[in-house]
Amino acid sequence: MRSLYYQTPSAVALIFHIIRTEGPVNRTDIVNRTGLSKSTVSLQINRLLSRGLIREESPGTGEKARRKLRLELAADSGCVVGVLLGIHALTINIFNIAMTTLVEGSWEMTSVIEPEPTNRFIMEKIEELLQKATIPRDKLWGIGIGFPFPVDFRKGTSDSPPNLPLWNQYPLRKVYEEHFGCPVLIDNDVNVMALGEGFSGAAQEEKDFIFVKVGTGIGSGLILDGKIYRGSKGCAGDIGHIGIDGETRLCHCGNQGCLEAIAAAPAIASKGLEAAMTGESPLLENILQSKSRITSRDVGDCAQRGDMASIRIIQESGRKIGSVLAKLVNFANPGAVYIGGGVANSGNLFLSSIRESIVKRSPHLATIDLSIRFSELMARSGPSGAGILIIDELFSFARFQETLDRRLPAE
Ligand SMILES: [Zn+2]
Repeated sequence: MRSLYYQTPSAVALIFHIIRTEGPVNRTDIVNRTGLSKSTVSLQINRLLSRGLIREESPGTGEKARRKLRLELAADSGCVVGVLLGIHALTINIFNIAMTTLVEGSWEMTSVIEPEPTNRFIMEKIEELLQKATIPRDKLWGIGIGFPFPVDFRKGTSDSPPNLPLWNQYPLRKVYEEHFGCPVLIDNDVNVMALGEGFSGAAQEEKDFIFVKVGTGIGSGLILDGKIYRGSKGCAGDIGHIGIDGETRLCHCGNQGCLEAIAAAPAIASKGLEAAMTGESPLLENILQSKSRITSRDVGDCAQRGDMASIRIIQESGRKIGSVLAKLVNFANPGAVYIGGGVANSGNLFLSSIRESIVKRSPHLATIDLSIRFSELMARSGPSGAGILIIDELFSFARFQETLDRRLPAE
């Protein structure tokens, strides 16, 4: 469930919004819906037609048919790019302006430590996909990108990424806008994943929900009243470094007992390694002997095969995450919690441990109808959310005039 930014819309923005979200519609529908005069509606529709943002389909000829002309979004008049950069992978989708995927690609990332080569790689891959789909540059209307670290959304810069000092205060939005010559929005990965889940995943009917990513780190995106809640600086939902009582494991941020340090993928892998080395888990011991390492996925797989040590590790992780989510549920009273990220592949045991903790620590009313599920889109939620982030901005009431001006017909 999405809602537009709150601002009194201009007539043309409002008419376009109706056609985009409800089309095909005829002119009479628009007059009735908006309360605008027939002449205003007609004038603004002609503007939208001349800029190529909408098109009409005629059911026949004559005055009667003209009144029934139906207007719809000209989906292929432009495209946007949705990008999700992870620590280990890059995923890019190009969508038309109706958010249908035109082309997509994903690549493994060996290192994201240095910003210049990483951004150059992302730009090259966007160019490659544009060429593959034979999309001319003037049809590229905007780009949305999710990065795996805190982002100052308003300034368009990264901010103090843990373990990635070279990215601190990097002017990401400016760099991409200058290169591509179109509007760009950047956000953190979990926010765009939450937007993606709300747009085309399991959360389409939810106005209030929390999306939690459990991977190398742990973060959450909050959708409240249909809108992403970023807080005053853009780091709302950054739950990975909330301290857990009684835990002392050192976190990469320098503190002890952070949720991330005891429940994210590296912690699961390290506890799995311990269980393999002490002989507590013969299954993990075999994996260690054959691969010389244990991943969180190995622990999740062994848990699903009934290995008791792995079950304990996965349950511990789920319960700790659930104990922090319970606080969010108490505070924000969402209708649903969705779990995504690599560790979500650990199966229902992981999910039921999270659920158990949330239910145990929350009031009855907050959990009676609370849905706690895995993300439906999983890895696809990121590019989809990054795409809708920029589309919603381009067509927002605040920015619509600028978008329209960029589509001036060639003289
Ligand atoms: Zn920490």
